[in-house]
Amino acid sequence: MFNSAEKWDIYSGPRRLDGTFEFEHVALHELGHPLGLKHSTASDAMMRAFVSDTNTLQADDIAGIASICGGGEAVQATVANIYGVSLVAPENSKLSGQNNSRNLSGSLSGGDNQLDSGSLDLYQYTFENDSTVDIQLKSQAFDPFLYLARVSATKAAVAGSTFTDDNSGSGNNARINESIQAGTYWLGVSSTSGNATGNYDVSIISNTNNPSSSFESYTSIYGVDVLANPNPSISGSLGLADFKFNEKFLDLVQIETVVSSKVRIDLSSSAFDTSLLLVAVNSDQSLGSLSLQNDDNGSGTNSVIETTLPPGTYWLGVTSFAPDETGDYNIAISLVLP
Ligand SMILES: [Zn+2]
Repeated sequence: MFNSAEKWDIYSGPRRLDGTFEFEHVALHELGHPLGLKHSTASDAMMRAFVSDTNTLQADDIAGIASICGGGEAVQATVANIYGVSLVAPENSKLSGQNNSRNLSGSLSGGDNQLDSGSLDLYQYTFENDSTVDIQLKSQAFDPFLYLARVSATKAAVAGSTFTDDNSGSGNNARINESIQAGTYWLGVSSTSGNATGNYDVSIISNTNNPSSSFESYTSIYGVDVLANPNPSISGSLGLADFKFNEKFLDLVQIETVVSSKVRIDLSSSAFDTSLLLVAVNSDQSLGSLSLQNDDNGSGTNSVIETTLPPGTYWLGVTSFAPDETGDYNIAISLVLP
C-alpha cells in the first residue's frame, strides 16, 4: 500500500526537492524488505534508509541479495594470469573472523580453461588470518575434483599450501577441510574425467583460528620489521610507531620470485604522497645491486615501479614523499604478461 497522504509521481532523473516521491524508486526499495534486506549504510544503495537520486539497483543491493539467496556471487573482475587460465575474483573475496560463508554456483563447459585436458574454473579468495576452512564442491553432472592453492605476489604456488580432493564429500563430491595459513588462494573446480561438463555448487565456510594471526613478519638486521606477505594485494598503514628513515615512516614488505618475472607494483594512498622503494636482498639481508625508487608514476601522487625481477628476494619499501606523513595505503602487485 502506498500512503495516499504523500505526493507521488513517475519521473526519471534526480529526485524532486518539493517532496514528490518517485513511485518506482520507493517500490524498488520497499520490495527489498520482504526479500530480507534491511537498510544499508552504503551511500548510493537503493536500500539506504533515505530517498536518494538513485533509481536502479546498486552493487551493494546486489551483493546483499546474493548473500541471502546463495549462489551467483557478484563478480568483481576476471583476470588473465600467467597460466593462460582466466580467474574469477568474486566481489566478497576477503574472509576474516568466525563463520564466514560464501556460496557460488557455476558450470564447467568445453569453452573453459583447460588443465591436463580437463575443464577448470578458478576463483580467488583471501583469508586474512590463519583459518580452518571447509570447502565443499558438489555436482550431479560430473565427479568433481577440488583444488585449493595459496599463491604468492608473483602468482606462484606457495610450497606446502596446495590441497586437492576427489571424494571426501558425500557421494562423489569433493571436500577440503583444513587449517590453512593466512593468504590469497586460488580455488579450482574440475572433474576427474577429462571432458566432463555441467553445473556445480561450491560452499565455503571459514573460521579464523586466532584473530591476531596474520601474515608472517620478522625484524630485519636494520631494526625494521619486514612483513613476509606474498599476497597479490596488501593493505597497510604508515603510523607513528613505524620505523623512521630520513624523517619519514617506513614499512617493508618482502616478496620473492621463483622465475624471472616482469612485475608492476602499484602503491596508492589517499592519505599521503607515496614513495615506493624496491631493493634486492641477499640471504644475509645485505642489499643487492637492484635498487629502484618511484614517487609519482601512478595517478595523482601514487607510485608505480614496473621492472623485470630475476629470481630472488626483494623488499618493497613504503614511505612518504614528505616527512612525518601517516595513513593507509594499498600495494597491488601484478605480473606483466609477455
Ligand atoms: Zn526501508
